[in-house]
Amino acid sequence: MTVPEMFGENVFNLDVMREKMPKDIFKSLKKTIDEGKPLDGSIAGAVAHAMKEWAVEKGATHYTHWFQPMTGVTAEKHDSFISPTQDGKVIMEFSGKELVVGEPDASSFPSGGMRATFEARGYTAWDPTSFAFIKEGTLYIPTAFYSYTGEVLDKKAPLLKSMEALNKQALRILRLFGNASAKRVVPTVGAEQEYFLIDRKMYDARKDLIYTGRTLFGAKPPKGQELEDHYFGAIKSRVSAFMHDLDRELWKLGILAKTKHNEVAPAQHELAPIFSITNVACDQNQLMMETMKRVAARHGMYCLLHEKPFAGINGSGKHNNWSMSTDTGLNLLDPGSTPAENGQFILFLVAVIKAVDEYQDLLRLTVAGAGNDHRLGSNEAPPAIVSIFLGDELTAVLEALDHDVKYEGRGKQVMKLGVDTLPDLPKDTTDRNRTSPFAFTGNKFEFRMLGSTFSIAGPNIIINTTVADTLRAFADELEGAEDFNAALHELVVKTYRAHKRIIFNGNNYTDEWKAEAARRGLLNLANTADALPHFAAKKNIELFERNAVFTEREVLSRMDIMLDNYAKVLAIEGLTMIEMAKEDIYPSVNAYLSDVCDLIGKKKALRLSVAAEEEVAKKLSAANEAMYFKANEIDKLLIEAKECPNAEAAAKFFAGKVIPVMQELRAYADEMELTTAKKYWPFPTYGEILFSI
Ligand code: ADP
Ligand code: MG
Repeated sequence: MTVPEMFGENVFNLDVMREKMPKDIFKSLKKTIDEGKPLDGSIAGAVAHAMKEWAVEKGATHYTHWFQPMTGVTAEKHDSFISPTQDGKVIMEFSGKELVVGEPDASSFPSGGMRATFEARGYTAWDPTSFAFIKEGTLYIPTAFYSYTGEVLDKKAPLLKSMEALNKQALRILRLFGNASAKRVVPTVGAEQEYFLIDRKMYDARKDLIYTGRTLFGAKPPKGQELEDHYFGAIKSRVSAFMHDLDRELWKLGILAKTKHNEVAPAQHELAPIFSITNVACDQNQLMMETMKRVAARHGMYCLLHEKPFAGINGSGKHNNWSMSTDTGLNLLDPGSTPAENGQFILFLVAVIKAVDEYQDLLRLTVAGAGNDHRLGSNEAPPAIVSIFLGDELTAVLEALDHDVKYEGRGKQVMKLGVDTLPDLPKDTTDRNRTSPFAFTGNKFEFRMLGSTFSIAGPNIIINTTVADTLRAFADELEGAEDFNAALHELVVKTYRAHKRIIFNGNNYTDEWKAEAARRGLLNLANTADALPHFAAKKNIELFERNAVFTEREVLSRMDIMLDNYAKVLAIEGLTMIEMAKEDIYPSVNAYLSDVCDLIGKKKALRLSVAAEEEVAKKLSAANEAMYFKANEIDKLLIEAKECPNAEAAAKFFAGKVIPVMQELRAYADEMELTTAKKYWPFPTYGEILFSI
């Protein structure tokens, strides 16, 4: 089968719909999809029938409403199509009602205290803009998840709402520029995904990987990523076979898997798809992560998606490339070539600048989590400080506007928005700043702070909503203007001036930038416990309510879930650490120690030197004892943590009290690993894991 034949083979896409549905039904559904509306109930039955016929033809026996609860992974509950007939046989059935609304018993999903147990049922509703697909004999229907009282319980419903907010406000701006043809504006996203591949045997031998997804112990191997010989290096045949399979699986699911390469760390790789409309990109990123795990298992490997599987080795992130596009395919962050296009581009650009500056806290907290705390600000990922990279050329253009001075690049003339054209901006992305958290890369922004396990829904809800809100204010101001070009010019200059502190084109990894950012008054929310409480700031709740994305109750419940998740992850890590320290490391080191002590006795009897043995014995004895008592200390802290009055207090307790002791415990263990004979060490070392493929 050729790739074009294979592509989308398991997807109920427009081609299949056209073929399988009556003309009028297809037309109506197509309109729904184009307008991003919920499915019209009157055609649901016909759509469900066509979907079922196609799925059964392809061998599917079950269907599931596939949704994205607050756990960060996707959830599914499979029902078969079978329906009994009077003569004791079955037929395959699927009704409109089953397509439109599913009823998962949702009482065990996190709801942040929002849903009392007596109303424990939620329902899921198909998002027709994201195609249904077949995976392993089941028809998957991408859905949003609500409680019966209408509150959103998942990541998809608010994402769709934020897209609608952006659509509404961006269209107002386009109309001001005389664009009467665009019917819809959608945010587009391409999410680059990093991951590690290790041998399955190594994974199975490490409780920390099994329980927490990362190693809690491990001394630095003699060779890590120092030589940078892995980045874009030749792909090993076992990995290559995995990637080959992965591409095909993804293509069949209609995912535009495009670029794959080795990353900086040994055993680390990246996959980037071609961008698509945000809710689809989000669904597909979830599917991509899940498929990576599934295909890796088939190849005797394990795919680690954790943000920091190995201390001292680069962790994994996700780059969220974001732009806005009209239904006619016009990229609104493309500078264009005429004065009008340029004016429009600059307005959308300063809207993003203003949104990012005013809502630094929200952007920061959407990428907050126990795993990502290990990456942000540690010379492998942007700092915890949010800033924007524009590049020198574009910054110079805005500076010239600001100061009403001649722009050097353009034959020394004063540039007027809406009248003049911009100079050619370099689109070359090769020398662009890779240390920036939010970088303009020619015709889109790349948000680089996401952790590899993150659903991209969270950050995109924030980007869409904050930009929508800014465009709303812009439209309010410009719609009443007498002289549009003059008002536009003034608005751009005013906005840039008020928010240019967020622009930083230098190296974000340096201490100088930290100091400079503090002088500029930018936020530096170092960890998750510091960042998350900002969710409930008054200005943020007002933002969400104004744009109909979250209610106050929803914000508070979401914040609680995220804080709680942080504390839970750390509690699991603490418990795993105690178990490994006491049950594995402590006895193993003692066994070696005992042998060394025996040897000391034997050697002394022969009057041989025991200097080395004594040093080893002393070192190990002291470190093992210290580690043991650190484990006790963590145990006590975990009991104390249960007394915290609320989720925020618990998160702060873990960040401030538990993490430092975990680090101390680890230091003893890692030191012992380097002194203990290999055959005694209870699990594979970093060297063995990282170079296992
Ligand atoms: P990189 O050097 O980071 O790999 P690329 O230009 O290859 O940069 O793009 C990275 C990602 O950005 C890809 O997923 C690509 O599809 C996506 N992308 C390109 N244009 C847009 C756009 N207009 N909106 C959203 N994402 C985009
Ligand atoms: Mg990138």
